[in-house]
Amino acid sequence: MLTPFQNEPFGNFDSGNRRAAMQRAIRHVAGQQGGTYPLVIGGEHIITERKLASINPAEPKKVVGYVSSASQEHAHQALLAADAAFRTWSRTPVSARAQVLLRAAAIMRRRKEELAAWMMHEVSKNWVEADADVAEAIDFCEWYARQALALQGERQPLVPYPGEFNELRYIPLGPGLAIPPWNFPLAITTTLTVAPIVVGNTVVLKPSPRAPVMANLLVQILEEAGLPPGVVNLVTGEDAVIGDFLVDHPLVRFIGFTGSKNVGLRIQQRAAVRQPGQNWLKRAILEMGGKDAIIVDETADLEAAATGIVVSAFGFQGQKCSACSRAIVVEQVYDQVLQRVVEKAKALRLGNPTKPETDMGAVIDQRAFDSISQYIAIGQEEGRLVCGGEVIDHELVKDGGFFINPTIFADVKPHARIAQEEIFGPVLAFIRAANFDEALAIANDTEYGLTGGLYSRSLERLERAREEFHVGNLYFNRKCTGALVGVQPFGGFNMSGTDSKAGGSDYLRLFTQPKVISERF
Ligand code: GLU
Repeated sequence: MLTPFQNEPFGNFDSGNRRAAMQRAIRHVAGQQGGTYPLVIGGEHIITERKLASINPAEPKKVVGYVSSASQEHAHQALLAADAAFRTWSRTPVSARAQVLLRAAAIMRRRKEELAAWMMHEVSKNWVEADADVAEAIDFCEWYARQALALQGERQPLVPYPGEFNELRYIPLGPGLAIPPWNFPLAITTTLTVAPIVVGNTVVLKPSPRAPVMANLLVQILEEAGLPPGVVNLVTGEDAVIGDFLVDHPLVRFIGFTGSKNVGLRIQQRAAVRQPGQNWLKRAILEMGGKDAIIVDETADLEAAATGIVVSAFGFQGQKCSACSRAIVVEQVYDQVLQRVVEKAKALRLGNPTKPETDMGAVIDQRAFDSISQYIAIGQEEGRLVCGGEVIDHELVKDGGFFINPTIFADVKPHARIAQEEIFGPVLAFIRAANFDEALAIANDTEYGLTGGLYSRSLERLERAREEFHVGNLYFNRKCTGALVGVQPFGGFNMSGTDSKAGGSDYLRLFTQPKVISERF
């Protein structure tokens, strides 16, 4: 019997042991940079000659690690290994599979600061964000272990029928793909890997080439936790070489993906094509982008609203699909909210995320830096720049780090590009609305539907938003990021994806198929 699920607490780093532990971990991890990492196929660790360098976004001359670069033949072998392992793993009792997740959670808990320190180097997460990412990964392991026991231990109640015994079981699908993003390089990589395996599937994990070292650490942890060979196979490599190849492969039964809208749509389309030798429909579970809005009306606590907007827009440099990229504020309080948000944004400290005082690190790489910079240029035409935007006069730029100031454009029109397209960086559009009704209409007027927020003291408006604000995760009087496992199952509508609700109690079913068995006496 397991204790009831509880979210892993976040660290308090203001003083004391955790602060010292984090500083020790940062020093330790700094000494481990530049190592070499293998592919993992059928339990075999394969170091390829060709390597990909994962770089530190705050100091791009520093290589976090050199990961092996898989060929299509490696990807094929990985799927064969997953297919072979499926035969035994799918018949392994659920309690044994859940044990692996619980042990992995225990290992992550023991290595919490170290894992956070790796994220500071590989994706430029600050202390608080990196710690939260590890806590979420632990939560996913603990949550899905319990969910799997509930799902596969009990039978769904069926209507009794005279003279027959009927049962419904959830059985696994087969081998599949886990394609996580770089922005939650431990948490989302964990969810897309451990959810399918705990219900008996096997996986080929293809992490983002922007955060492959974190995926390697996860696979090491799962191996240490007792995962048999072939259940999770790791193929790091270039998307152009192995991306489509894996998605198209006839052995693939399901694809779990979190990432951009364009890649998600491409996966959906390719997954729909039946390949020679493929006798099943590939199931695509896709979590994509967002153009998330926080609405503030004239009854709101304006200080709380400004704080919520700043945290949601600039936390992890705005590189979350849940990030607030539109602040929609009613006329009456627009100037006040804008002023407070700008003040708070200007106070954010950019820097190397290994320093405890850093609020914002660098954006992930040159490509992201260029694309965000382009949107800032577009914003100059579409709105009034009130914060950031300029080239950064920052000592760290000497190291060539990809730093972008928190940037705010005021008086942006609802259909402007910076109000409609996902920028995935620290750029916020302020939009003026005549009243609450108009604000709600503007909020809903995008192709996405992931998160949304409303700051208001009007119960009537909160009720209306409950019904009419069309997003998968709606937050009242709080930030619109940081969904907690089990508390706020996460996923969105429309072009934000299949609304699969990671961390919810329906999630595991996505990786199963129900089978009904009827026995006549
Ligand atoms: N689950 C995260 C949150 O609630 C966002 C995940 C993502 O950006 O992909 O902030």
